[in-house]
Amino acid sequence: MKILVSGGSGFIGTNLIKSLIQERHEIHVLDNNCSSDLSNIKSFIDLNQIKFYECDISKGLPEEIYRVKFDQIYNLASPASPDFFKRIPIEIIETNVIGVNNLLKLAKKDNARFLQASTSEVYGTAQISPQREDYWGNVNPNGERSPYDEGKRCAEALIYSYKRKFGMDVRVVRIFNTYGPFMLKNDGRVISNFIVQALTNKDITIYGDGNITRSFCFVDDLVNGIKLLMNYQGEINGPINIGNDTEFKIIEVAKLILKITGSKSKLKFLPGVVDDPVQRRPDLNKANNILNYYPKIKLEDGLVKTIQYFKEVLK
Ligand code: UDP
Repeated sequence: MKILVSGGSGFIGTNLIKSLIQERHEIHVLDNNCSSDLSNIKSFIDLNQIKFYECDISKGLPEEIYRVKFDQIYNLASPASPDFFKRIPIEIIETNVIGVNNLLKLAKKDNARFLQASTSEVYGTAQISPQREDYWGNVNPNGERSPYDEGKRCAEALIYSYKRKFGMDVRVVRIFNTYGPFMLKNDGRVISNFIVQALTNKDITIYGDGNITRSFCFVDDLVNGIKLLMNYQGEINGPINIGNDTEFKIIEVAKLILKITGSKSKLKFLPGVVDDPVQRRPDLNKANNILNYYPKIKLEDGLVKTIQYFKEVLK
């Protein structure tokens, strides 16, 4: 198949491409590397396993892309770590609205199947737990997280408008907190922060009292879920949550990372973050029933692999 991966040098993109390469597709990759590291996929480029185009999807797509007729388009392009929401808020909105529109026009031209990486952030500070796909969310429309949350919500609106208007084959995955190899060491996410802090004997920075919860999915499980969704034969109505539904307090994660690394780092409690969702856990019934998706990797096992990865990165 001819497959386009937009946002392919990022954390999830790199893991997805690694998996797609095994299946011997013709893979084209777009990224502007604004929140990723091109060295993640350099060996694939050098071995001609993928064709890479440096491109900001909100500014238009490269000419050569229009000469390929794609079967599938994965859109994973967008900074996704809260640190970026403050640093490049306008670019995030442009990527998720104008960029997604550019990709949808391409998918329409090629009659390609289109998969969008949406996010659990569309649920905002959820008033129900676990979060089901038919929950409309509780998002601050103009707060510091809004460029990402509302950008992704607008992307969903755009995608389902194309589906209704043109009958396109679209799939939307709502990704819950994910971790694993190829995360950036400094993008501010909790797992990468805690692991790097533990490995370098720095204080473990807990924002708030540590009782906020998240449900962490190892990236191999997520990639499996994304591919199941993309390759499902038949119509899929509405978005599907993919993640792991085992919920942890942030303080529990900190202690687990200290245990696995054997680090002497101390816990440091800092002021809480504005609009930080207090509880997050996916309802996976839809993914279970339609895709037969069940996450397999336990947090402790995934952390061992991720810590191993960061030990190499920090060498
Ligand atoms: N967090 C923390 N210390 C850090 C980084 C994050 O306590 O060094 C908290 C953050 O406030 C949030 C949770 O961990 O409550 C998950 O944060 P992350 O940025 O990884 O993802 P998101 O907020 O998008 O779920």
